Amino acid sequence: MSGIATKVPFLTLNDGNRMPIIGLGTYEAPPGVVENVVRVAIDAGYRHFDCADFYENEHEVGQAIRDAIRDGKVKRDELFITTKVWPNWHGKGRPTLSAKRSLKNLGLPYVDLLLIHWPTPLKQVDDNFYPTDATGQALFDNTIELIDVWKEFEQIKKDGLTRSIGVSNFNSQQIEDLIKNSSTVPVVNQVECHPYLSQEKLLNWCESRGIKLTAYSPLARSGTVEEKNTTSPLDIPVIKQLASKYGVSAAAICIKWQTQRGVSVIPKSATKERIIANIDLFNFNLTDSEVKAINDLNRDWRNNTWTQFGINKHRNWPFAIPF
Ligand code: NDP
Repeated sequence: MSGIATKVPFLTLNDGNRMPIIGLGTYEAPPGVVENVVRVAIDAGYRHFDCADFYENEHEVGQAIRDAIRDGKVKRDELFITTKVWPNWHGKGRPTLSAKRSLKNLGLPYVDLLLIHWPTPLKQVDDNFYPTDATGQALFDNTIELIDVWKEFEQIKKDGLTRSIGVSNFNSQQIEDLIKNSSTVPVVNQVECHPYLSQEKLLNWCESRGIKLTAYSPLARSGTVEEKNTTSPLDIPVIKQLASKYGVSAAAICIKWQTQRGVSVIPKSATKERIIANIDLFNFNLTDSEVKAINDLNRDWRNNTWTQFGINKHRNWPFAIPF
């Protein structure tokens, strides 16, 4: 195993499985690029990969993973692979088909974690990820209850297609409903989380239920923030000062802050130097007051509001309550 891989701490999930606290995000890592990105990441010490059917690149991610296993660089049981079921695959029997589709694309017999990608069932129209009506508004499927999707997830786990099951973009009430009406507590809730959206209330609530938070868009997706006239977290003076103090990048400070709060984190990069630097951060620790100084940057600012196609009108839109 490479040096970094042995240094990356694990989080123990509520079903006993273990997840490396840092993983590589693969969204918008395009086909033609992502295969090499995953090779670089495995060499750099990444063992946790965050995938989704929706990212339309799982065949390449899987190719790189299978090559690394074949070449003896890594064993399957050292890896933690996550994939997700998109909301147009929520109807009866469809989550299982979606999981099998991802496994086929990845070329793997099981994943480590399967997530409900969003809590907002959409209509099935030709497997279109964004089924819309003539006016461009998303078509919802209000006949589907999340608890039924979750019970199918329990069966998918029993069938051995995934080791653990969890959710993404769920609010606390939606998770509470699953817990009350099933025998499985989600192991993870994967949500947007960065210095502008510290998610402290949701984090504390999830901890009280034995659920780990995973931070997506931990760098607030870099440039997007600037487009919206907000300073990128990588340019916030407090973060830049800490980067300079510890001799690391501003991104490393944002990622390290998450790990020190017990939050797993999945930065995406397609740039070799950044891929390496984003995980090489176990030679320093932020002090408690530095962690608090970053917590204090919170302004509940969300990049991924999911208002596209009117999805904010969905009865299950998760951001209608504070957390
Ligand atoms: P991130 O916050 O991880 O930001 C990615 C951007 O930051 C890219 O433009 C990348 O550029 C840049 N970047 C990476 N490292 C550095 C660095 N060291 N210095 C400066 N810039 C850097 O955004 P994502 O939205 O991609 O989130 C990460 C992952 O989370 C996704 O890939 C996906 O796996 C998951 N996700 C899950 C969602 C869900 O609904 N569950 C929603 C959104 C994301 P470059 O690639 O050019 O290096």
